[in-house]
Amino acid sequence: MKRVLLKLSGEALAGEKKTGFDEEVVTGVAKQVKQLVDEGVQVGIVIGGGNFWRGRSSKNIDRTKADQIGMLATVMNCIYVSEIFRSQGMMTSVLTPFECGDVTKLYSKDRSNKYFSRNMVVFFAGGTGHPYFSTDTATVLRAVEIDADEILLAKAVDGVYDKDPKDHPDARKFDRISIQEVIDRKLQVVDMTASILAMENKMPMVVFALQEKDSIIHAAHGETTGTVVTA
Ligand code: UDP
Repeated sequence: MKRVLLKLSGEALAGEKKTGFDEEVVTGVAKQVKQLVDEGVQVGIVIGGGNFWRGRSSKNIDRTKADQIGMLATVMNCIYVSEIFRSQGMMTSVLTPFECGDVTKLYSKDRSNKYFSRNMVVFFAGGTGHPYFSTDTATVLRAVEIDADEILLAKAVDGVYDKDPKDHPDARKFDRISIQEVIDRKLQVVDMTASILAMENKMPMVVFALQEKDSIIHAAHGETTGTVVTA
């Protein structure tokens, strides 16, 4: 049974609006994930919070508090996407590393495995639960913990480039690159903390553009036009 961890950025949920939710975009994601679940793939999800808030959003408040707002933004995102997934006929559960009353359930590896075995999509909301970390790090951490086969990184850009393609028209896209080279060249695939965790635990990643048709399905099938980051 294949198990993947799909990371969606907060901005991806917002579509053109850049903030809040774009229901059409999220419904498109849900339809692709449904196809994978129907094929028997176990899918975990981590979502960023940038469509609402980042720890860096205010310089005037305490960083720990700002990061807590960011973590709660990821909880809102997971609840929303989980509900859209349910509307498309999937069973879902939202887990957080801290208590949220009856809004979510407390994360544990055993609980995740129980839900995966029931064909549910498991949302890992609230990041790592700690300030000064990111949902990139939460993605790699959860992927390693739940023994995922690979991480699927759905981004605005269609793969890993040797320099920023927005600023450099001659930027070259990699079909494959090792995580070691990503770290050595300081390429922005995931942040450095997450990159090191992926390297140390040999967790491969596939980077692709969310806006390309069926890109999540292609990535999970090993047929991506994006970049495979090897462990
Ligand atoms: N965040 C955090 N700890 C985590 C995950 C997220 O403090 O383990 C906070 C942090 O403030 C971050 C925000 O939640 O800026 C949104 O997460 P995301 O990873 O989308 O942020 P980004 O990397 O874009 O700053």
